[in-house]
Amino acid sequence: MLPHELSQFIKTEAISLGFAVCGITKAEPLPSDITSFVDDWLDKGMHGAMSYMERNRDKRYNPALLVPECCSIICVALNYYPSVIQEDTPHLSRYALGNDYHKIVKDKLYLLLQKMSSVVKVNGRPFCDSAPVMERYWAKQSGLGWIGKNHQLIIPKAGTHFFLGELFVDVELEYDKPFEKEFCGNCDACFRNCPTGALSVDGFDARRCLSYLTIEHREELPDGIGKKMGNCIYGCDKCHSCCPHNRFALPSLEPSFVPKRELLDMQGNDWKNLSKDKYKELFRDSAVERCGYEQLMRNIKSAIE
Ligand code: SF4
Ligand code: SF4
Repeated sequence: MLPHELSQFIKTEAISLGFAVCGITKAEPLPSDITSFVDDWLDKGMHGAMSYMERNRDKRYNPALLVPECCSIICVALNYYPSVIQEDTPHLSRYALGNDYHKIVKDKLYLLLQKMSSVVKVNGRPFCDSAPVMERYWAKQSGLGWIGKNHQLIIPKAGTHFFLGELFVDVELEYDKPFEKEFCGNCDACFRNCPTGALSVDGFDARRCLSYLTIEHREELPDGIGKKMGNCIYGCDKCHSCCPHNRFALPSLEPSFVPKRELLDMQGNDWKNLSKDKYKELFRDSAVERCGYEQLMRNIKSAIE
Protein backbone atom coordinates (compact mmCIF):
# COMPACT_ATOMS: atom_id res chain seq x y z
CA MET A 1 0.00 0.00 0.00
CA LEU A 2 1.24 3.50 -0.80
CA PRO A 3 1.38 6.01 2.08
CA HIS A 4 -1.71 7.90 0.91
CA GLU A 5 -3.69 4.65 0.52
CA LEU A 6 -2.64 3.47 3.95
CA SER A 7 -3.52 6.85 5.48
CA GLN A 8 -6.99 6.70 3.95
CA PHE A 9 -7.39 3.12 5.20
CA ILE A 10 -6.42 4.22 8.74
CA LYS A 11 -8.89 7.12 8.74
CA THR A 12 -11.73 4.94 7.47
CA GLU A 13 -11.00 2.30 10.12
CA ALA A 14 -10.71 4.95 12.87
CA ILE A 15 -14.16 6.31 12.03
CA SER A 16 -15.61 2.80 11.95
CA LEU A 17 -14.16 2.24 15.46
CA GLY A 18 -16.23 5.20 16.67
CA PHE A 19 -13.72 8.06 16.61
CA ALA A 20 -15.24 11.35 15.46
CA VAL A 21 -12.13 12.49 13.61
CA CYS A 22 -8.68 11.19 12.71
CA GLY A 23 -5.66 13.08 11.42
CA ILE A 24 -2.03 12.18 10.83
CA THR A 25 1.14 14.17 11.38
CA LYS A 26 4.86 13.59 11.11
CA ALA A 27 6.60 12.75 14.38
CA GLU A 28 9.17 15.49 14.83
CA PRO A 29 10.75 17.29 17.77
CA LEU A 30 8.57 20.17 18.93
CA PRO A 31 9.63 23.66 17.80
CA SER A 32 11.50 25.79 20.33
CA ASP A 33 8.72 28.39 20.70
CA ILE A 34 6.40 25.65 22.01
CA THR A 35 8.96 24.05 24.33
CA SER A 36 9.99 27.48 25.70
CA PHE A 37 6.34 28.31 26.34
CA VAL A 38 5.84 25.06 28.28
CA ASP A 39 9.15 25.48 30.17
CA ASP A 40 8.15 29.00 31.16
CA TRP A 41 4.71 27.82 32.33
CA LEU A 42 6.32 25.09 34.43
CA ASP A 43 8.99 27.44 35.79
CA LYS A 44 6.24 29.76 37.02
CA GLY A 45 4.76 26.81 38.90
CA MET A 46 1.41 27.13 37.09
CA HIS A 47 1.08 23.32 37.07
CA GLY A 48 0.71 23.23 40.86
CA ALA A 49 1.46 19.84 42.36
CA MET A 50 1.36 17.96 39.03
CA SER A 51 5.07 17.22 39.29
CA TYR A 52 4.79 14.48 36.65
CA MET A 53 4.57 17.34 34.13
CA GLU A 54 8.10 18.41 35.05
CA ARG A 55 9.50 14.95 34.42
CA ASN A 56 10.40 13.41 31.05
CA ARG A 57 10.41 16.75 29.27
CA ASP A 58 12.88 15.37 26.72
CA LYS A 59 10.35 12.66 25.80
CA ARG A 60 7.46 15.12 25.88
CA TYR A 61 9.29 17.33 23.41
CA ASN A 62 10.62 14.62 21.12
CA PRO A 63 8.37 11.67 20.20
CA ALA A 64 11.35 9.60 19.00
CA LEU A 65 12.67 9.53 22.59
CA LEU A 66 9.35 8.17 23.81
CA VAL A 67 8.91 5.61 21.02
CA PRO A 68 12.16 4.94 19.13
CA GLU A 69 11.59 4.40 15.40
CA CYS A 70 8.33 6.34 15.57
CA CYS A 71 7.88 8.41 12.43
CA SER A 72 4.14 9.16 12.30
CA ILE A 73 1.51 10.14 14.86
CA ILE A 74 -2.12 9.23 14.24
CA CYS A 75 -4.42 11.49 16.28
CA VAL A 76 -8.02 10.68 17.09
CA ALA A 77 -10.84 12.22 19.12
CA LEU A 78 -13.67 10.36 20.80
CA ASN A 79 -16.89 12.22 21.63
CA TYR A 80 -17.98 11.91 25.27
CA TYR A 81 -20.79 14.48 25.34
CA PRO A 82 -23.51 12.85 27.45
CA SER A 83 -27.12 12.71 26.33
CA VAL A 84 -28.24 13.85 29.80
CA ILE A 85 -26.83 17.04 31.25
CA GLN A 86 -27.12 17.72 34.98
CA GLU A 87 -26.95 21.30 36.21
CA ASP A 88 -29.37 21.63 39.13
CA THR A 89 -28.20 18.80 41.37
CA PRO A 90 -24.72 17.93 42.65
CA HIS A 91 -22.98 16.25 39.73
CA LEU A 92 -19.67 15.29 38.17
CA SER A 93 -18.00 16.89 35.19
CA ARG A 94 -19.51 15.48 31.99
CA TYR A 95 -16.40 13.61 30.98
CA ALA A 96 -16.49 11.60 34.22
CA LEU A 97 -20.02 10.24 33.90
CA GLY A 98 -19.13 7.16 31.86
CA ASN A 99 -16.50 4.44 32.14
CA ASP A 100 -12.79 5.21 32.34
CA TYR A 101 -11.87 6.79 29.01
CA HIS A 102 -8.16 5.91 29.21
CA LYS A 103 -8.87 2.24 28.64
CA ILE A 104 -11.64 2.77 26.10
CA VAL A 105 -9.59 5.06 23.87
CA LYS A 106 -6.47 2.88 24.15
CA ASP A 107 -8.41 -0.32 23.41
CA LYS A 108 -9.76 1.28 20.25
CA LEU A 109 -6.26 2.40 19.25
CA TYR A 110 -4.97 -1.16 19.77
CA LEU A 111 -7.72 -2.33 17.42
CA LEU A 112 -6.66 0.30 14.90
CA LEU A 113 -3.08 -0.94 15.15
CA GLN A 114 -4.34 -4.49 14.58
CA LYS A 115 -6.24 -3.35 11.48
CA MET A 116 -3.07 -1.68 10.19
CA SER A 117 -1.09 -4.87 10.85
CA SER A 118 -3.46 -6.74 8.56
CA VAL A 119 -2.23 -4.69 5.59
CA VAL A 120 1.29 -3.54 6.49
CA LYS A 121 4.19 -4.43 8.78
CA VAL A 122 3.92 -1.93 11.62
CA ASN A 123 4.90 -1.38 15.25
CA GLY A 124 3.12 1.16 17.35
CA ARG A 125 2.12 2.39 20.79
CA PRO A 126 -1.19 3.98 21.75
CA PHE A 127 -1.56 6.78 24.27
CA CYS A 128 -4.45 8.49 25.96
CA ASP A 129 -3.53 10.94 28.68
CA SER A 130 -1.13 8.28 29.91
CA ALA A 131 2.40 9.41 29.02
CA PRO A 132 4.40 12.58 28.35
CA VAL A 133 2.61 13.39 25.09
CA MET A 134 1.60 16.92 24.05
CA GLU A 135 -1.77 15.71 22.89
CA ARG A 136 -3.43 19.01 21.94
CA TYR A 137 -0.33 20.10 20.05
CA TRP A 138 -0.30 16.88 18.00
CA ALA A 139 -4.05 17.10 17.41
CA LYS A 140 -3.61 20.61 16.02
CA GLN A 141 -0.62 19.49 13.92
CA SER A 142 -2.70 16.69 12.44
CA GLY A 143 -5.41 19.15 11.43
CA LEU A 144 -8.10 18.20 13.95
CA GLY A 145 -8.75 21.69 15.28
CA TRP A 146 -7.30 24.66 17.12
CA ILE A 147 -6.42 25.21 20.77
CA GLY A 148 -8.96 27.70 22.10
CA LYS A 149 -8.53 30.37 24.74
CA ASN A 150 -10.04 27.81 27.14
CA HIS A 151 -6.94 25.65 26.44
CA GLN A 152 -9.06 22.87 24.99
CA LEU A 153 -8.84 21.46 21.49
CA ILE A 154 -11.83 22.84 19.56
CA ILE A 155 -12.95 20.71 16.65
CA PRO A 156 -14.77 22.78 14.02
CA LYS A 157 -18.53 22.14 13.98
CA ALA A 158 -18.14 19.71 16.90
CA GLY A 159 -16.73 21.53 19.94
CA THR A 160 -14.61 20.50 22.89
CA HIS A 161 -16.23 17.43 24.45
CA PHE A 162 -13.68 14.93 23.15
CA PHE A 163 -11.05 12.61 24.57
CA LEU A 164 -7.87 12.71 22.53
CA GLY A 165 -5.75 9.68 21.70
CA GLU A 166 -2.54 9.12 19.76
CA LEU A 167 -1.05 6.13 18.01
CA PHE A 168 2.71 6.44 17.48
CA VAL A 169 3.76 4.20 14.55
CA ASP A 170 6.94 3.35 12.69
CA VAL A 171 5.56 3.69 9.15
CA GLU A 172 5.66 6.71 6.85
CA LEU A 173 2.19 8.02 6.04
CA GLU A 174 0.60 10.87 4.16
CA TYR A 175 0.41 13.85 6.54
CA ASP A 176 -2.41 16.28 7.08
CA LYS A 177 -1.87 20.02 7.13
CA PRO A 178 -1.72 21.57 10.61
CA PHE A 179 -4.83 23.50 11.61
CA GLU A 180 -3.51 27.04 11.22
CA LYS A 181 -6.67 29.09 11.78
CA GLU A 182 -8.36 29.80 15.08
CA PHE A 183 -11.96 30.81 15.50
CA CYS A 184 -12.04 32.30 18.99
CA GLY A 185 -11.81 35.79 17.55
CA ASN A 186 -12.91 38.47 20.02
CA CYS A 187 -14.82 36.02 22.19
CA ASP A 188 -13.70 35.84 25.82
CA ALA A 189 -16.63 33.91 27.25
CA CYS A 190 -14.37 31.31 28.87
CA PHE A 191 -12.38 34.03 30.68
CA ARG A 192 -15.57 35.64 31.96
CA ASN A 193 -17.22 32.35 32.96
CA CYS A 194 -14.26 30.77 34.69
CA PRO A 195 -15.32 31.01 38.35
CA THR A 196 -11.79 31.16 39.77
CA GLY A 197 -9.84 33.31 37.30
CA ALA A 198 -7.76 30.31 36.22
CA LEU A 199 -8.19 31.40 32.59
CA SER A 200 -7.12 34.87 31.54
CA VAL A 201 -5.07 36.74 28.97
CA ASP A 202 -2.06 35.72 31.09
CA GLY A 203 -2.70 32.05 30.28
CA PHE A 204 -3.95 29.11 32.29
CA ASP A 205 -3.13 28.80 35.98
CA ALA A 206 -3.88 25.19 36.95
CA ARG A 207 -3.52 26.05 40.65
CA ARG A 208 -6.74 28.04 40.50
CA CYS A 209 -8.65 25.64 38.25
CA LEU A 210 -11.50 23.67 39.85
CA SER A 211 -10.64 20.62 37.77
CA TYR A 212 -7.16 20.63 39.23
CA LEU A 213 -8.31 21.44 42.76
CA THR A 214 -11.03 18.78 42.91
CA ILE A 215 -9.06 16.01 41.17
CA GLU A 216 -5.28 16.51 41.36
CA HIS A 217 -4.95 18.53 44.56
CA ARG A 218 -4.67 16.16 47.53
CA GLU A 219 -4.65 18.69 50.38
CA GLU A 220 -7.49 20.70 51.93
CA LEU A 221 -9.34 22.88 49.43
CA PRO A 222 -8.73 26.64 49.69
CA ASP A 223 -11.25 28.59 51.78
CA GLY A 224 -14.29 29.83 49.89
CA ILE A 225 -13.81 27.50 46.93
CA GLY A 226 -17.13 25.69 47.60
CA LYS A 227 -19.15 28.71 46.42
CA LYS A 228 -17.20 28.74 43.17
CA MET A 229 -17.77 25.02 42.57
CA GLY A 230 -21.51 25.50 42.16
CA ASN A 231 -23.06 22.04 41.94
CA CYS A 232 -20.02 20.34 40.41
CA ILE A 233 -18.35 18.04 42.95
CA TYR A 234 -15.69 16.64 40.57
CA GLY A 235 -14.08 18.71 37.83
CA CYS A 236 -15.72 21.72 36.19
CA ASP A 237 -17.43 22.21 32.83
CA LYS A 238 -17.83 25.97 32.77
CA CYS A 239 -15.20 26.74 30.13
CA HIS A 240 -16.81 24.07 27.93
CA SER A 241 -20.44 25.03 28.56
CA CYS A 242 -19.95 28.69 27.70
CA CYS A 243 -17.98 28.04 24.51
CA PRO A 244 -20.15 28.91 21.50
CA HIS A 245 -18.51 26.15 19.46
CA ASN A 246 -20.21 23.60 21.69
CA ARG A 247 -23.58 24.51 20.21
CA PHE A 248 -22.65 21.84 17.67
CA ALA A 249 -22.17 19.13 20.33
CA LEU A 250 -24.06 15.92 19.68
CA PRO A 251 -24.48 13.12 22.23
CA SER A 252 -21.80 10.46 22.16
CA LEU A 253 -22.71 7.14 20.56
CA GLU A 254 -20.13 5.25 22.65
CA PRO A 255 -22.08 2.84 24.90
CA SER A 256 -19.40 2.92 27.63
CA PHE A 257 -19.97 6.65 28.09
CA VAL A 258 -23.70 6.38 28.78
CA PRO A 259 -24.05 7.63 32.39
CA LYS A 260 -25.30 5.05 34.90
CA ARG A 261 -28.90 5.70 35.93
CA GLU A 262 -28.00 5.42 39.61
CA LEU A 263 -25.36 8.11 39.18
CA LEU A 264 -27.83 10.48 37.53
CA ASP A 265 -30.38 9.80 40.27
CA MET A 266 -28.04 10.89 43.10
CA GLN A 267 -29.33 13.94 44.99
CA GLY A 268 -27.73 16.23 47.58
CA ASN A 269 -28.41 14.01 50.58
CA ASP A 270 -27.30 10.88 48.73
CA TRP A 271 -23.94 12.54 48.06
CA LYS A 272 -23.60 13.83 51.62
CA ASN A 273 -24.25 10.34 53.00
CA LEU A 274 -22.26 8.47 50.36
CA SER A 275 -20.73 5.34 51.93
CA LYS A 276 -17.47 3.81 50.80
CA ASP A 277 -19.33 0.75 49.49
CA LYS A 278 -21.73 2.89 47.46
CA TYR A 279 -18.78 4.89 46.15
CA LYS A 280 -17.12 1.66 44.95
CA GLU A 281 -20.33 0.52 43.31
CA LEU A 282 -20.95 3.86 41.55
CA PHE A 283 -17.40 4.29 40.30
CA ARG A 284 -16.38 0.77 39.37
CA ASP A 285 -14.59 1.11 35.98
CA SER A 286 -14.67 4.90 36.26
CA ALA A 287 -11.80 7.40 36.14
CA VAL A 288 -13.26 8.87 39.37
CA GLU A 289 -11.88 5.82 41.20
CA ARG A 290 -8.44 7.47 41.00
CA CYS A 291 -9.58 10.44 43.03
CA GLY A 292 -10.38 8.20 45.99
CA TYR A 293 -13.33 8.17 48.37
CA GLU A 294 -11.90 10.60 50.94
CA GLN A 295 -11.06 13.21 48.33
CA LEU A 296 -14.49 12.99 46.72
CA MET A 297 -16.10 13.43 50.14
CA ARG A 298 -13.87 16.48 50.68
CA ASN A 299 -15.23 17.96 47.43
CA ILE A 300 -18.83 17.11 48.32
CA LYS A 301 -18.49 18.72 51.73
CA SER A 302 -17.03 21.84 50.19
CA ALA A 303 -19.63 22.18 47.41
CA ILE A 304 -22.77 21.23 49.30
CA GLU A 305 -22.30 22.55 52.81
S1 SF4 B 1 -12.35 23.96 34.32
FE1 SF4 B 1 -13.51 25.59 35.42
S2 SF4 B 1 -12.06 26.49 36.86
FE2 SF4 B 1 -10.85 25.32 35.33
S3 SF4 B 1 -10.33 26.78 33.76
FE3 SF4 B 1 -12.25 25.85 33.10
S4 SF4 B 1 -13.87 27.17 33.91
FE4 SF4 B 1 -11.97 27.71 34.98
S1 SF4 C 1 -15.40 30.47 24.92
FE1 SF4 C 1 -14.84 31.83 23.21
S2 SF4 C 1 -12.72 32.43 23.63
FE2 SF4 C 1 -13.16 30.67 24.92
S3 SF4 C 1 -12.46 28.92 23.73
FE3 SF4 C 1 -14.64 29.17 23.25
S4 SF4 C 1 -14.66 30.50 21.43
FE4 SF4 C 1 -12.62 30.62 22.31
